[in-house]
Amino acid sequence: MSGDTAVKYLYDMSEGDATMRTVLGGKGANLAEMKRLGFPVPDGFTVSTAACVATMESHGEWPDGLWEDVEAAVERLEERTGRTLGGERPLLLAVRSGAVFSMPGMMDTILNLGMSDETVEILGAESHDPRFAWDSYRRFIQMYGDVVEGVQPHVYEDELTALKAKRGVENDTDLTTEDLKELVATFKEVSRRELGRDLPTDPREQLRGAVDAVFKSWDTPRARVYRKANDIPDDLGTAVNVMQMVFGNRGDTSATGVCFTRNPSTGENTIYGEFLINAQGEDVVAGIRTPRPLAELEEVLPEAYAQLVQTLHDLEAHYKDMQDIEFTVEDGTLYMLQTRTGKRTAAAALKIARDLVEEGVLTQEEALQRIEASQLDQLLHPAIDPEHGKTPLTKGLPASPGAAVGELVFDADTAAERGNNGEAVVLVRYETTPDDIHGVIVAQGVLTAHGGMTSHAAVVARGMGKPCVAGAQAIRLNTAEKTLTVGDKVFNEGDVITLDGSTGDVYGEAIDLVPPQVNEDFSAIVGWADELRELGVRANADTGEDAAKARELGAEGIGLCRTEHMFMATDRLPAVREMILAESVEDRAAALEKILPMQQADFEGIFTAMKGLPVTVRLLDPPLHEFLPSLVDQSLLVQRLELTGGDAEELDEARALLGSVKRLHEQNPMLGTRGCRLAMLYPEIPEMQTRAIIRAALAVREREGETVGVEIMIPLVAYSAELEAQRAIVERAVAEELQAAGQEIDVTVGTMIELPRACVVADQIAEHADFFSFGTNDLTQTGIGISRDDAEGGFLSAYVSDEVIPANPFESIDREGVGRLVQIGTERGRSTKPELKVGVCGEHGGDPASIQLFHELGLSYVSCSPFRVPIARFAAARAVLDARGEATPDA
Ligand code: PEP
Ligand code: MG
Repeated sequence: MSGDTAVKYLYDMSEGDATMRTVLGGKGANLAEMKRLGFPVPDGFTVSTAACVATMESHGEWPDGLWEDVEAAVERLEERTGRTLGGERPLLLAVRSGAVFSMPGMMDTILNLGMSDETVEILGAESHDPRFAWDSYRRFIQMYGDVVEGVQPHVYEDELTALKAKRGVENDTDLTTEDLKELVATFKEVSRRELGRDLPTDPREQLRGAVDAVFKSWDTPRARVYRKANDIPDDLGTAVNVMQMVFGNRGDTSATGVCFTRNPSTGENTIYGEFLINAQGEDVVAGIRTPRPLAELEEVLPEAYAQLVQTLHDLEAHYKDMQDIEFTVEDGTLYMLQTRTGKRTAAAALKIARDLVEEGVLTQEEALQRIEASQLDQLLHPAIDPEHGKTPLTKGLPASPGAAVGELVFDADTAAERGNNGEAVVLVRYETTPDDIHGVIVAQGVLTAHGGMTSHAAVVARGMGKPCVAGAQAIRLNTAEKTLTVGDKVFNEGDVITLDGSTGDVYGEAIDLVPPQVNEDFSAIVGWADELRELGVRANADTGEDAAKARELGAEGIGLCRTEHMFMATDRLPAVREMILAESVEDRAAALEKILPMQQADFEGIFTAMKGLPVTVRLLDPPLHEFLPSLVDQSLLVQRLELTGGDAEELDEARALLGSVKRLHEQNPMLGTRGCRLAMLYPEIPEMQTRAIIRAALAVREREGETVGVEIMIPLVAYSAELEAQRAIVERAVAEELQAAGQEIDVTVGTMIELPRACVVADQIAEHADFFSFGTNDLTQTGIGISRDDAEGGFLSAYVSDEVIPANPFESIDREGVGRLVQIGTERGRSTKPELKVGVCGEHGGDPASIQLFHELGLSYVSCSPFRVPIARFAAARAVLDARGEATPDA
C-alpha cells in the first residue's frame, strides 16, 4: 500500500486479470490474464496508471511510498525467481509501457535493465555465451542512453554502423564478442561525451530512471498527437510493466516475433506473423534485418512453434477475438510477452466476425458489437488505398463518403461533356445548384468551397453515392480563369486531384483507389442486424434509379421523395416559369397541366421500383424564386439590353421576368414562402401533384399488377390549420381522380415536422395527420437558429474544432436541443393518436449516433440516402444492443 493514501499503485502480476485494464493498462491486464490462465509469461509486476497520473499531477514528483512499493516488489520477484538485481545470479528486467488503450510504438521500453560490467561477465559464464551477454549489454546502454538520458539514438547507431563497416560485415549478428566489447566501451564513451557523466551503474537507480522515463513518455508530442487522432483522453496515464527478461538473442535456439491469430488485412483464418532468430524485440520493428514468415519457425524450432500455435489458438478462444501477440523463444522455451485485440481492416473485421459466429465462438449479437458502422461505410465505396502515405492539400467537410480521382473541371457543362466521353473528372464549384446536376451525375466526385453537410452538393452527392468534399474553405476559385488555388499552389483545369469524401481530405495528385467490397460477409452481417432492429429503414429517393438502388440495398420503402428536383430539370423549367409568371388561376392551371404528365412519368418510375412498399411523396417545398434567374443576373441582362438597344420584344420579356424576380425576392427565403406556405397561396400546385401521384399509382397497378402504399406529405407545416387546408385539397383531388378512374386505392396524408412550433403543437397537428416525418435538417436550422447554407462555412466549424459543441449538428443530431424537440413532437403527436407512425427523413436518418436516439425515442422508421441504407440497418440493430446496456468489447 502506498504511503497513507488508499490508492494502490503497484500490483504483482498474479494479482491482476483482463478486467483491470484501467488500472494495469491493456498490456499489464492481459499479461496478468495470461499468467492466471497458465500461459508461459515471464514473472513481474505492474506500476499502475494511477501512479503515472499522480506523478504528472505533481509535475514529475512520484507519490509518497511508490518507490518503496517498487523496492518491495523487486524483492518479492527476486525471491520468486531466485535471482537478485545486481547480484551473483543477476536478475535482469524489461520495463515496458502499457496504456489503457493501445498506442502502438508511441511510448518507451527499456530492456536488459540490470546490466553492468559485473553482470555481463556473470551472464556470459552462466549462459556459456559471452557474445550474447555483451550483445545484451550494448543494447542496454543504447536504450537507456536514448530513452532515459535523452542521448540522440543516432549517436549509438552511427558507432554501430561504423564498426560494422570497419569489420566489413552487414548484420549485427556478424559482430564477434570482441567487437561487442569494443562497442560497449565506445557506447560508454559517447554517453559520457554527450552527458558529461557516466550512465548509472546501480541497477536500482537504473530502474527508478526507467520507470520515470516511461511515465514521461506518456506526454511526448508524438503520443499526444496519436491520442488526439484516436480520441484517447490525455489524463489516463500509462502503466509500467516490469518483468523478468527473457532473451531472444541467446543464439540460434532463441528468437523473437510478432503475430496475429488471423490475417489482419483479409481476415482469413490463418496465422500471420514474422520472427527473427537470435534477436530482441526492437530488431523486428527496426527493420535492420528482414524478418522471416512465421511458418519457417516450424523448421528451425519445431517444439516452440507447435507450442506457439497451440497458444495462439487457446488465446483466441479465450478472448473470442483475433489477437495480436508478441513472443520470445529463449533457448527453445516459449514466452508470451503480450496479447491484445488485433487491429484489422474493415473487410477483415467483417470476415472475422462472421467466421467467429460460424465457428460457434460468438453469437450474432456479440459479432454485431465487434463492428463499427464506419467500417461498413468504408466498404460501400471506393476508398483511397490505405498505404498511400501522401499529405493532403487541404480539408473540407466529409460530405459524402468514398474516394474519387479525376481531372479538375470548373463548370457543370464541361463536366457533363467530358464525363459523357468517359473521362474521369472532378467537378469543383463554389457551391452547386440544381442547374449543375448534369455535371454532378457524370463526375467522379464533387468538391465545393462553400456549404455544409446539408448543402445542395452534399445532399445530391449522398443520394447518388458519389464522393463529395464540401465547404473546403481554404480553396480559392477563379471560374473565369479556371484555377483553383490553395496557399501558393495553383491548379488548372485538367490537373488531377483526389477527394476522400470519408475524411474530407483533398489531394493535389492522383492516388490509387481500392474498389467497394460489398460481399457475402457484408450481406450476412446486415442480415443479422435486420433480425434485431426495431426501427424501419427507408430511403430518400427522387428517381426510379435511386429507388431501385435503395431497394437493392435493403430499403423498406421511400421515406422522402422530394419533388422539387422534378421541377428543376431543364426540359421542365419553361413550363414551371410559365406557371410562376401566370397572371390568372386559369393560366397557372394550364401551365401545371403541362407539368403533370412529366411528374406522373417520374412517379411511375419510382413506384415501379418500389411496388409493394410504401412511398412518401412530399409536395413541393422550395421557394418559387429558385426557379427564376437571380436578381443580379436578371438586372444585368435588362441593363445590357437597354444599353445595346436590342430587340424590343426580348427587352420586354426580360423586364417582365425581372419584375417577377423582384416580386418574389425574399431576404430570408429559407424562412419565406416555402413548403405548404406556397401551396396555400397556389392550391393548384398540390392539386396537380396529387393528381400526378394518383394517376401514376393506378398506372403502375394496371401495368405491374401491384402498386405502392401511397403516402402524401405536406412540408413545413407550423399551424394545424395549414395541414387541415392542404389535406382537404389533397383529399378532394384524390377522390376526383379515383372517381374518374372508377378505382380504389389507399392514400394516407401526413406532414413533415420540421419547425419548433410544429413540435410544440404536434397534438393539434396530429388531428389532421396520418403520419409524421421529422425533417431534422430544417428542425436543426430553425431549432438552433443556424443557417444550414452558411453556418458550416463559418462559426460552426470553429465551434466543433474548439469543442464548444461535440459535433456538427447538421451531421449528428443535437440530442439535448433538437433531439428534445423530436421527443416532444413525438409524444404530443401520439397523445392524440397513440399509434401514429413517426419517421425521420432529414440527413440524420443515416447517422449512427442519431439513429441511436431515434430508437430510444421509439420512432417507427428512419429514412436516408440509398447508400446509407445498410449503415442505417446496422446502426438500428446496434441501437437495440446499446439500449440493453450490453458492454462493448475490449478495445
Ligand atoms: C429536412 O428539412 O430535414 C428535410 C428532409 O427536408 P429538406 O432537406 O428537403 O428541407
Ligand atoms: Mg425541410
